[in-house]
Amino acid sequence: KKIIVVGSSHGGYEAVQQILLDAPETDIQWYEKGGFLSFLSCGMQLYLEGAVKDVNSVRYATVEGESAKGVHVFVRQEITSIDAQRHTVHVVDHENGEEREESYDKLILSPGAVPAEIPVEGRELENIYAMRGRDWAIKLKAATVNPDIKDVVVIGAGYIGIEAAEVFAKAGKKVTIVDIADRILPLYLDAEFTDVLTATLEDHDVSVAAGESVQRFEGKDGKVSAVVTDKGTYAADLVVESAGIRANTAWLSDVVKLGDHGLIEIDDFQATSAPDIYAVGDATLIGFAPTGGYAHIALATNARRQGRIAARNALGEHIAFPGVSGSSALSIYDYKFASTGIKESNAASYGVETKSVLVKDTYRPPFVPDDEGNAEVLFKLTFAADDGRVLGAQIMSTQDTTANINAISLAIQQHVTVDQLEYADFFFQPGFDRPWNIINVAAQQASRELA
Ligand code: FAD
Repeated sequence: KKIIVVGSSHGGYEAVQQILLDAPETDIQWYEKGGFLSFLSCGMQLYLEGAVKDVNSVRYATVEGESAKGVHVFVRQEITSIDAQRHTVHVVDHENGEEREESYDKLILSPGAVPAEIPVEGRELENIYAMRGRDWAIKLKAATVNPDIKDVVVIGAGYIGIEAAEVFAKAGKKVTIVDIADRILPLYLDAEFTDVLTATLEDHDVSVAAGESVQRFEGKDGKVSAVVTDKGTYAADLVVESAGIRANTAWLSDVVKLGDHGLIEIDDFQATSAPDIYAVGDATLIGFAPTGGYAHIALATNARRQGRIAARNALGEHIAFPGVSGSSALSIYDYKFASTGIKESNAASYGVETKSVLVKDTYRPPFVPDDEGNAEVLFKLTFAADDGRVLGAQIMSTQDTTANINAISLAIQQHVTVDQLEYADFFFQPGFDRPWNIINVAAQQASRELA
């Protein structure tokens, strides 16, 4: 059997590893159009802040390592088209310009996404960067130590924009974050959380210009010098655009069915509309556990789970993908936060009626002094207004309480109700939490609200 895997980031990597595990005799061809196998943008902030020294270490796989396992790895080779009927792909070798056809029995696509570009005047100016992939990582790293770059404007206050802002603020630059939404991280947290985080950013001299839409980039001597929004003008020696992503699927439009935003439509088994072609990762519309529908959630965790399942199905199994809830975590300076599922602020967009409870507690029992590692924890549980099914949660503290969100993610996936969570068996030890875990406390409040 010959399986071709396209894309060497999270989704492609996992597909290859699963095939090696289950059917090592498979003829695996793994294609990456860029010059570097398996760069992981998730590790970029650690590299940019200097915790990880070598940009080339931010990866899971090397050509040598995978070749030694028997994988046929092709770097700087792009799949430019697919003939789904004949089961062939067209390969362009960017090293020497040569082209060829390759046949496959099964094809697994993980072509991912590229940073979206805001279509405004001035975008041809120099020093307008993005934050994704190794090439941008190297350029951004150079910018952190470039004394000519003093003012940085980050466009987009999602996870990537927040990471970029913190990187440049820590590098001593004056940073402004602009977002069209009226607060930061609108997809991840409700206002009770983002109010605190915005204040924290401002305490660290990071300005937040929320509710502003970028109108144009201004320049001087060919380089960007300012970002003009509908409400203000912000000096910028460097712009980091992190206002969403665009699925890398235009080349697939006549091969597989594309849906919303050009995302590949897949069934529960990761299969596309074309025979023997599977798709995973940021390029796909993924099953959303809280609603049972589909959503666009670009996370490495999703790509990895999908990659494993696509590979098993390509090898002949029939395993349904359980769906995801968009579980994710991040920090802003001392605050560590995580969220999953539906938030109060976006419930309407999913067409569900929800209730929420907000619990403020301490991380450890109140008798533990703050300087012994006690701190406030903010937790919000969102559930269905009719039957109390758990639909989402958010947590934040200066202590690391983020892993609680994984329990909620499982609760969503398993259709657990707040009643069932009230007395769920969670540990207590004064070094780590309180006699009632904060999830129990919130679920007890939620149950009372539903009664
Ligand atoms: P991509 O990572 O987009 O990779 C696709 C690959 O396919 C690319 O290497 C591309 O060159 C190649 N390719 C595309 N088309 C072709 C073709 N035709 N032929 C050959 N090769 C092709 N997620 C988390 O869960 N946790 C995090 O902490 C996190 N942090 C992040 C931080 C940053 C700065 C960024 C940018 C993203 C972060 N993400 C995180 C998101 C995560 O990186 C993505 O969800 C993940 O990379 C998606 O993997 P993918 O395989 O779908 O595609």
